[in-house]
Amino acid sequence: MTFDLDSVLQERRIQSLYRRRRTVDGPQQPNLVVDGKERLAFCSNDYLGLANHPEVIRSFQKAANEYGVGGGASHLISGHSRAHHRLEEELAAFTGRPRVLLFSTGYMANLGVISALLGKGDAVFQDRLNHASLLDAGQLSGARFQRYLHCDPQSLVKKLERSEGRRKLVVSDGVFSMDGNIAPLKELAEVAHSHNAWLMVDDAHGFGSVGQGGRGVADLFDMGMGELPILMGTLGKGFGTSGAFVAGSEALIETLIQFARSYIYTTAMPPAVAEATRTSLRLLQTEDWRRERLQTLIQQFRSGCEQLGLELMDSHTPVQPIMVGSAEKALSLSESLEQQGILVTAIRPPTVPKGASRLRVTLSASHSEAHIDQLLIALENAVKEGQG
Ligand SMILES: *Cc1c(COP(=O)(O)O)cnc(C)c1O
Repeated sequence: MTFDLDSVLQERRIQSLYRRRRTVDGPQQPNLVVDGKERLAFCSNDYLGLANHPEVIRSFQKAANEYGVGGGASHLISGHSRAHHRLEEELAAFTGRPRVLLFSTGYMANLGVISALLGKGDAVFQDRLNHASLLDAGQLSGARFQRYLHCDPQSLVKKLERSEGRRKLVVSDGVFSMDGNIAPLKELAEVAHSHNAWLMVDDAHGFGSVGQGGRGVADLFDMGMGELPILMGTLGKGFGTSGAFVAGSEALIETLIQFARSYIYTTAMPPAVAEATRTSLRLLQTEDWRRERLQTLIQQFRSGCEQLGLELMDSHTPVQPIMVGSAEKALSLSESLEQQGILVTAIRPPTVPKGASRLRVTLSASHSEAHIDQLLIALENAVKEGQG
């Protein structure tokens, strides 16, 4: 009995911070079978509805017949397949960068990039609401780690001015994962440039959902490699598959191949995942109706919430949090929705700051307008219940 795990777990329960998993049967889709019951779900990051798309599934199956299942080895040994290579080339064309490197997950991509580029004597500057994987990467890199105020270039300026770091890297989410707002990337790029720093953007939530052809925030702000030298995206959200990528110059990608430990020392993603992603990349670029549908649903949801007097964030992306405040209240609203057959997760500390607990509603092109109506009615009931 050296580690008193039980009392730590009990403490979490008391604080309404305890997390538990639910078991899903069947594919990701609005009508989700969760713990054996059908729920209307608003919590997936499958923004375009590609995770269960028949063409994506067919490509996956076909590639499994050709390549088998396992990646078999790391990319530098014998695991770098033709499928991976083609996907890298297509993602390079998609992002308008000379080269792309695939990673097995977004978490690993962020760890790999930041620790390959920075070490002792360097400095990293991050938006304080960046995704956990970026914050962890900054801590682990050994560089001096500083957070600036959320979406506040002036706060960044102050930290950069005082920095004596050899290499300086500014890092931001493109679309913030828990708030849905978009970082002021033009201003951040300017500040980075004038302080001799590099800019890295993690656009996990922007690819597929914003920009022309789903090209993400880099397209939205028309930022090439000069302004935005390190562009990272994930494949498990808008792309509907799994994995991640980093896009940039020849020298950047070669540096990552040599030095990114989370690239070097891990098994390549299954080639069939890469082939499935090539198909989802094509659908993501060509099927504009998915983004248009999303915008319609976002408008419908926002105006409905406004009528109910619910507090939303300034977001025009599929991430539409309803601000609640306390973890306890967020949890009880989420439970009330669930009793009405609707699944929306309560996001609590430490994922978000204390007092900023929320219901994180995410919308998908596979939702219908009737689904949004159902959600709005359930929200109205849940709020009434909370007041009564
Ligand atoms: C989801 C997410 C990641 C992690 O990506 P995975 O492929 O799920 O590991 C990284 N950054 C951001 C902003 C994310 O939302």
